Amino acid sequence: METSCVFCQIIRGEKPAEIVYRDETMTAFKDIHPHAPVHLLIVPRKHIRSLNDLTEEDQGIIAGMIFKARDLAREMGISKSGYKVLLNVERGGGQVIFHLHMHLIGGW
Ligand code: AMP
Ligand code: ZN
Repeated sequence: METSCVFCQIIRGEKPAEIVYRDETMTAFKDIHPHAPVHLLIVPRKHIRSLNDLTEEDQGIIAGMIFKARDLAREMGISKSGYKVLLNVERGGGQVIFHLHMHLIGGW
């Protein structure tokens, strides 16, 4: 956990967010500046900077996030219409929050 990290603060409950799912390994909440009718962020509880920093021991975390994206898409009713699952990596990849997160975007 990093004290200055916005996503760690949300996960710890120190900063408000519209949380749609939470378990012991990840939290999912609504993006504050949605790019689509449905725009969720799926965030591991463990503070990992980016995809570059994933280790072998994190395999279960990333796999769980992908399955959760699939399940949340279904719950949000966008499975059939379609959606994007996106990881931005480092500044050149558009990452601005340096705590690994997966965007689930859809509902068009
Ligand atoms: P990225 O560009 O992949 O790092 O995406 C970071 C995302 O986090 C952006 O889409 C922001 O709108 C979103 N974001 C930043 N701060 C918050 C917050 N406090 N609550 C919810 N979403 C946030
Ligand atoms: Zn963090």
